[in-house]
Amino acid sequence: MLTVSADRDDVERMLGAGGLACPACGGPLARWGRARERQVRGLDGVGRLVPRRARCGGCGRTHVLLPVTCLARRADEAEVIGRALEAKAAGAGHRVIAEALGRPASTVRGWLRALAARAEQVRRRGRMGCGWRRWRLRREPRRGRGCRGRLSCCPCVSRRTV
Ligand SMILES: [Zn+2]
Repeated sequence: MLTVSADRDDVERMLGAGGLACPACGGPLARWGRARERQVRGLDGVGRLVPRRARCGGCGRTHVLLPVTCLARRADEAEVIGRALEAKAAGAGHRVIAEALGRPASTVRGWLRALAARAEQVRRRGRMGCGWRRWRLRREPRRGRGCRGRLSCCPCVSRRTV
């Protein structure tokens, strides 16, 4: 799976010009049909997405090209999950966030746990690979809990928390 622009025309132009590289070998990607249709839940409702598939001219692997508005293996758009992360960074709990977003508390808790599990990796890289928004983690010592990753979003949350 490869994250690409949300602009379909832009992606088609890049595929036609060999402007997208295979994440496995760096070879040029070419059009290779479509991936399966999937539902994507946004802030305003549910939409459908049929991502482009591409094949590498070097190693022959195929890749699903996911627009930056979506995250791999998540039914909710990046903007929805980003809002949850912003709210968490501002101090809200997962139940409050779930209520505000109209999502199950267990779903929101899963997003927050997934990020917490990758906190060190994200902090080292300085951002997540989603491309939609750059996320950074700051480590802040918490009393009695040792050092725990705390999310700050660039630029809006970091302005508030730094
Ligand atoms: Zn390749």
